[in-house]
Amino acid sequence: MNMPTTITQLSATQLALQIRAGELSSTAVTQAFLDRCEKFNPDLNALLRFDGPAALEQAAAIDAKRKRGEELGLLAGVPVAVKDLVAMRGERLTCGSRMLENFVSPYDAGIIERLRLADAVFLGRTNMDEFAMGGTNENSAFGPVRNPWNTECTPGGSSGGAAAVVAADMVPLSIGSDTGGSIRQPAGWCGITGLKPTYGRVSRYGLVAFASSLDQLGPMARSAADTALLLEAIAGHDARDSTSVNTGVPSYIADLQQPLHGLRLGVVKEHFAKGLDPQVEATVREALKVYESLGATLHDVELPHARYGIATYYIIAPCEASGNLARYDGIHYGYRANEKEVVQQLDAKRTAWQKAGDKAGAAAVDNTLVGLYRASRSEGFGPEVKRRIMLGTYALSAGYYDAYYVKALQVRRLIRQDYDRAFEGVDLIIGPVAATPALALGQNAHDPLASYLVDLYTVSANLAGIAGISIPCGFNTSGLPIGLQLQSPPFQEDRLLRAAHQYQTATTWHTARPVLE
Ligand code: GLN
Repeated sequence: MNMPTTITQLSATQLALQIRAGELSSTAVTQAFLDRCEKFNPDLNALLRFDGPAALEQAAAIDAKRKRGEELGLLAGVPVAVKDLVAMRGERLTCGSRMLENFVSPYDAGIIERLRLADAVFLGRTNMDEFAMGGTNENSAFGPVRNPWNTECTPGGSSGGAAAVVAADMVPLSIGSDTGGSIRQPAGWCGITGLKPTYGRVSRYGLVAFASSLDQLGPMARSAADTALLLEAIAGHDARDSTSVNTGVPSYIADLQQPLHGLRLGVVKEHFAKGLDPQVEATVREALKVYESLGATLHDVELPHARYGIATYYIIAPCEASGNLARYDGIHYGYRANEKEVVQQLDAKRTAWQKAGDKAGAAAVDNTLVGLYRASRSEGFGPEVKRRIMLGTYALSAGYYDAYYVKALQVRRLIRQDYDRAFEGVDLIIGPVAATPALALGQNAHDPLASYLVDLYTVSANLAGIAGISIPCGFNTSGLPIGLQLQSPPFQEDRLLRAAHQYQTATTWHTARPVLE
């Protein structure tokens, strides 16, 4: 049978509905998306791996399940792509790093179990900044991802692959992770919808840790309705993640239709300060007007400590990363340097010291074990990961711990208090998700500090542990998407999704698709 080429344009919600009703098979749907992956991935480099036959096998199993009359899960045979930092039994798990290039996961993450229960089809694994450190996807050891709207631009990061696959209609749903903005910022730059859930809403069991007190997994999709569908499938308590919170999961889908009358939106003056691209500002202000026309009211709110967000984040995240990444020593996990070469090099060093008559120098040469750690980590990690490990180790070292780490924790508390206070008077906070649209590839290549600023508007939500969503709200004159961010108090994802959905009912920005040749 000749399937219509428009399958890939149907929403995930619609696809699930039609598969469940037997109007479409999961096999046909999966094949349609696979065709696009084959066609566009060589250019975009958004998927690190996808396995057509394996995906089709899963799809066939779901079709057979339906034919037997069994009830299908929430995702009913709809394909999903997963960022390459989530463990799936028997599958490679690279984290965008040489360090884990050949690592095969021995177990399923909590989120994978839930996706399996929901009858998702796993289509492939998405490219990312190494260990999720970055905001442009240029830190991947496997090459950068290109933005489907303009392939000379980055898709954002670190979930750049997960954003690009959805924007390019290569898959209708994807899973990203957000430690400081990595779901929301690439969603904004790729013109899709991405939600960072409240810390504790989605299980982190089986998520490779970057900064454990900030990391959250979350859904990315083409609309708020599809995002709600995916969040409903993945949210919930998991006893294996001690920070997972045991509160009920509302029906995010059922809540979408409620009108916004009386919704109080907080606008933060500092979000519109110097540094914000004028076209982004104008577009976001237009979106505010749309919300007013939908019955929401705008209120000025203050987040006085938000301006310390980046500084605070870039102490806390590297500190936690330096601990989390200590396990990659070439012995327990991942890449191991060539032992023979290491021994030869150490011997040569020792002999050179001895020849020079320096006994202390000779004695100070690493032993084989330390030499192997050093060589494995030096060859296995990329430059940004090393930079973060060094920053974190420094900030945690005796003498600096109080000045940097403890101070950062204190500011983190103040940032959370600012939000608590702001949310006494408003239901959501609204503003830009990033100060500019997508950057050109290579633009910040030699300026790590500038790269750290791409998350100016997003890191505070992670520091406070609250939820945030990014939705498309327009384009700049070069045709690059612009994102709008909404933030909510903890566990109010339903409110976020409803506000996003109502906006998408009144506008069409989220329906625009890039033209790919
Ligand atoms: N860009 C930020 C960083 O590099 C955030 C990354 C993330 O959210 N994973 O740390």
